[in-house]
Amino acid sequence: MNKPVVILGAGITGLNCARLLPRSLDYGIYEKENSVGGLCRTVSQDGFLFDYTGHLLHLKKPGIKKLVKTLLHGQLSAHHRNSWIYSHQTYTRYPFQANTYGLPEKVIKECVLGFIEARTASRPGQGGTPGFEEWVLRHFGRGIARHFMFSYNEKLWTVPVKELTAEWLGPYVPDPTIAEVVTGALLDQSRRVGYNANFYYPEYNGIQSLPDALAHKLPGIHLQEKAVQLNVHDRIVKFESGLEIKYDRLVSSLSLKELVNMAEGLPLTVKQQAAALRYNEVLNINVGIKPALTAAKHWVYFPEKKYPFYRVGYTSNLSHHNHPAGTSSLYIEIAYRAGSLARMNRHQVNRQVNESLSSLRQVGILEHPSRIVTVNTFKISPAYCIYDFNRTRNVTMIRDFLKKKGIYSVGRYGAWEYSAMEDALEWGRSTAEMIKKSYR
Ligand SMILES: Cc1cc2nc3c(=O)[nH]c(=O)nc-3n(C[C@H](O)[C@H](O)[C@H](O)COP(=O)(O)OP(=O)(O)OC[C@H]3O[C@@H](n4cnc5c(N)ncnc54)[C@H](O)[C@@H]3O)c2cc1C
Repeated sequence: MNKPVVILGAGITGLNCARLLPRSLDYGIYEKENSVGGLCRTVSQDGFLFDYTGHLLHLKKPGIKKLVKTLLHGQLSAHHRNSWIYSHQTYTRYPFQANTYGLPEKVIKECVLGFIEARTASRPGQGGTPGFEEWVLRHFGRGIARHFMFSYNEKLWTVPVKELTAEWLGPYVPDPTIAEVVTGALLDQSRRVGYNANFYYPEYNGIQSLPDALAHKLPGIHLQEKAVQLNVHDRIVKFESGLEIKYDRLVSSLSLKELVNMAEGLPLTVKQQAAALRYNEVLNINVGIKPALTAAKHWVYFPEKKYPFYRVGYTSNLSHHNHPAGTSSLYIEIAYRAGSLARMNRHQVNRQVNESLSSLRQVGILEHPSRIVTVNTFKISPAYCIYDFNRTRNVTMIRDFLKKKGIYSVGRYGAWEYSAMEDALEWGRSTAEMIKKSYR
């Protein structure tokens, strides 16, 4: 079969790209699962709706905000972030660096003095790609590094902070002033700073409502078609079903590693560069609880090693349509080094669930009479693409090589980046534009 444009993956990158291609252009989207959405999928279980862990819409780009608001017209709720950090047996407000109020005095002193020292020191830069470790010490000082930035990020990324660059920080790490840090040490201030101070979430059907709206009346979606082999020279993609398509342009939102793995005849350097890309995996445990919890929080970060999870969120506080009346629901996220989660069997996953539930009791999230009425687990792999010192050079070279062969590797995993739903929609838009231009 011939198709001018083949799109691999019906996540929100692939769907938005297809939506914006001219109808005169013959394209097909091929997705290995039996539903659209990729990571933006939602399952229904015992009356609860569970996303593949918390998926909250942070909409900063005007064009994308308009698109999402149009697609989910009348279904989108705006929320003011209510997020926390749990450390030293204390809940403090997010972001940690601007809210140490309530922590042991010794910890507050270490954090505040360290911050002032860092901001007032005049240290010459070392040049080259900035390392995350150095960036944190320069911006936040030793106390905040020790009590949150290093511990939390090592837990999340699963690698020592000295192996991470600071490229991914962008909007993700709020950068307060000395005045904000001092005030946040003296007072319990609820002023919200940072990129996710407000967010949106769909009232109905979980985050699945977004890909469903993108896919509504969109022709050319083929489910349960897993791409398994790619001939970049003859421009042929083969699927597990036996289907073979000769394309002119290929859009792939698959992981860059997976795409390169399935491609034949690539130069050895490209194969080696893809093999060097690192990632972590996330076990997402979702639980339904009875009776309803009293907390109004959205999510809590856990930097300390003694708790298995790095973050726990309240799914039921996102929409009351996410759970039956009189119940609550939570999402729990635990990070693993690449490969170790994929290898975990059912028994090992259950052990991790039990350990997490007992930790949730220790930190007071599961309140005294709480009963777990349903449990669901998702393995997400890859979950976070690791920004080590080789990542950017390798990703750029692989994607440039593929582009010369008519392949656009895009989206969170195609571009091998730390990004959000908003960025995935933008990848879809800009890729459709590039394809349109290439046919002019
Ligand atoms: C733990 C976690 C939490 C997150 N939380 C948020 C959040 O709160 N807010 C936010 O904005 N973003 C969040 N994100 C990011 C968000 O999930 C992504 O940015 C977005 O979903 C990426 O969409 P995509 O289409 O690029 O990729 P994907 O959703 O990964 O889509 C790729 C598609 O390709 C399919 N596929 C894979 N292999 C094949 C194959 N061989 N053949 C055919 N199809 C294939 C997959 O099944 C999938 O449907 C989070 C991500 C993670 C991991």
